[in-house]
Amino acid sequence: MSTTNHTVLCGTCKCAVETVSDPQAHDKVTCPRCGASDRFDNVMATVKEHVVYLAEKTLSESLTKAARGSRFLKVKTKHIPNRSFRWMIEGGL
Ligand SMILES: [Zn+2]
Repeated sequence: MSTTNHTVLCGTCKCAVETVSDPQAHDKVTCPRCGASDRFDNVMATVKEHVVYLAEKTLSESLTKAARGSRFLKVKTKHIPNRSFRWMIEGGL
């Protein structure tokens, strides 16, 4: 999955980060508000983790919702604890 069309947010202040256009792995990504910065490849690795986390959480929540009130549908969902990420993708999936 490509994350290039999504805005990357600073996990601390939920502010869109600044990066160069067509960033390379060694380019710096910087949060304009709190000044947090990291290499582009590190940021992308964290963002991908966040995407996976969101997908798991969304799936788990919709399964739980679907199973609620049904006598026939027993779904065992694993609880996804809230996590904070240093870098996040805007708007989820
Ligand atoms: Zn920040």
